[in-house]
Amino acid sequence: MPLTGKTALVTGSTSGIGLGIAHVLARAGANIVLNGFGEPAAAIASIARHGVDVVHHPADLADVAQIEALMAFAERQLGPVDILVNNAGIQHVAPVEQFPVESWDKIIALNLSAVFHGTRLVLPGMRERNWGRIVNIASVHGMVGSTGKAAYVAAKHGVVGLTKVVGLETATSNVTCNAICPGFVLTPLVQQQIDARAAAGVDTQQAQRELLAEKQPSQAFVTPQHLGELVLFLCSEAGSQVRGAAWNMDGGWLAQ
Ligand code: NAD
Repeated sequence: MPLTGKTALVTGSTSGIGLGIAHVLARAGANIVLNGFGEPAAAIASIARHGVDVVHHPADLADVAQIEALMAFAERQLGPVDILVNNAGIQHVAPVEQFPVESWDKIIALNLSAVFHGTRLVLPGMRERNWGRIVNIASVHGMVGSTGKAAYVAAKHGVVGLTKVVGLETATSNVTCNAICPGFVLTPLVQQQIDARAAAGVDTQQAQRELLAEKQPSQAFVTPQHLGELVLFLCSEAGSQVRGAAWNMDGGWLAQ
């Protein structure tokens, strides 16, 4: 149990990728702070089955004061945060000239600024204890663009840039900061895009196949479990010299 005694905070972990990552870290022995919207009872119960401590805080990470409250809660409940996975994120698809200003602001606040705030709040404690792992769930859209995703692509490129800076600023310590850049993962965030295509007249299976065929050469989804295992590697001793990286796990998307 390589992470026994460590505390991991995974933002946006009541569903999707965040919950998958929380499972892998809990299986490795870490106590878990969950965050995210929705009824958390099922997520809490499923994590507790790994025999670790688990708590949940519903902070809206688009609000700085709530991020600060989440960090204080985590430390009060389970001790200092050793592993921070900045995962919470949302999407909105529209051409740039029609992009709703409030959606732009919300996506930048959650997908980019919350990563900065979480990082600045956990870093002093990690430095003091001389151990820490910050893993930012960016996206292939941190490396390349796609039409209709102006705010998301801008935010994820920002996350990749921030990761490099934090990776450099912590380079001589036992704190590392890296980004993971997934391709398509079948979660509620991507299901929305499949549903939008299906609403235009194709059946759901066909919509799913078309979405993958456009971008992901493997024509198979990455899974939250796959991503969790990569986070676990970055938390290991073998991962200790991976610093400031943007590591894609994308079924070949970026190889094109
Ligand atoms: P999801 O919609 O399944 O889950 C998002 C989680 O974030 C949920 O727990 C939700 O409650 C929480 N959340 C939403 N708004 C929040 C807010 N304001 N404050 C706190 N929590 C909030 O999404 P997902 O697909 O699991 O995405 C997780 C991360 O992975 C995101 O950063 C996303 O950009 C990234 N990502 C996803 C894919 C994909 O294909 N699904 C690909 C690349 C990157």
